Amino acid sequence: MNLVFLGPPGAGKGTQAKRLSQERGFVHISTGDILRDAVSRGTPLGKKAKEYIDSGELVPDDLMIALIEEVLPEGRGVIFDGFPRTIPQADALDRLLEGKRQEIRWAILFDLDDEELIERLTGRRTCPSCGEVYHMTFKPPKKDEICDKCGSALIQRDDDREEVVKRRLEVYRRQTSPLIDYYDSKNKLIRLDAGRSIDEVYTDLLRFVDEEGH
Ligand code: ADP
Ligand code: ADP
Ligand code: ZN
Repeated sequence: MNLVFLGPPGAGKGTQAKRLSQERGFVHISTGDILRDAVSRGTPLGKKAKEYIDSGELVPDDLMIALIEEVLPEGRGVIFDGFPRTIPQADALDRLLEGKRQEIRWAILFDLDDEELIERLTGRRTCPSCGEVYHMTFKPPKKDEICDKCGSALIQRDDDREEVVKRRLEVYRRQTSPLIDYYDSKNKLIRLDAGRSIDEVYTDLLRFVDEEGH
């Protein structure tokens, strides 16, 4: 079963996708993580993507579609986290999966209001070594700004500063939110109240995935 995790930045998609893929064997594809890794390694893709990411704009569709084609695994259920973000990306993903006799089973919409999104994004801290994600209020590390898992100093993503966050929310409304209707019209949309605790959201998600089987 292939799932799309849809929703504004900071709604908790990555947090839930990581846990669900660990516990239920999905492949987790986070285009944001792949792009940040490419930027830090200075690859050609990273060089092209950096300015867009830093300013909160979307990386052009042709680059993203080529990227997803490259990383799509064979024969395993995938959680697409942060992709698609535009209608052309969604169309391309459908065609790509069709070619492999697969499909997106559900698009799960993580629903949360702007005020809470801003609080989640500005409090987010990430581990530059192992990728673990924290929140200074809602999921604090045991020791101040140090990763529980690997001991590295946590960082704040440049694009999680408040000026860029506002731009990212606008970009989401304008370019990504049309995907809600896109999946709804195909009867594939599930709305999830993302404004609850991490455990409550996860329990909901798990109940749903386990009922469906995959
Ligand atoms: P968030 O935590 O806000 O969901 P991501 O880590 O998914 O953020 O994305 C960070 C940035 O990477 C985006 O602001 C955008 O510049 C770029 N990006 C990630 N996925 C895509 C995509 N599917 N299409 C275009 N740009 C993307
Ligand atoms: P996204 O991938 O949608 O951008 P993340 O999973 O990175 O979102 O979560 C954004 C921030 O909010 C992180 O700091 C994370 O620890 C925190 N967070 C995630 N889910 C919840 C939740 N249900 N309640 C409170 N904080 C959360
Ligand atoms: Zn770490």
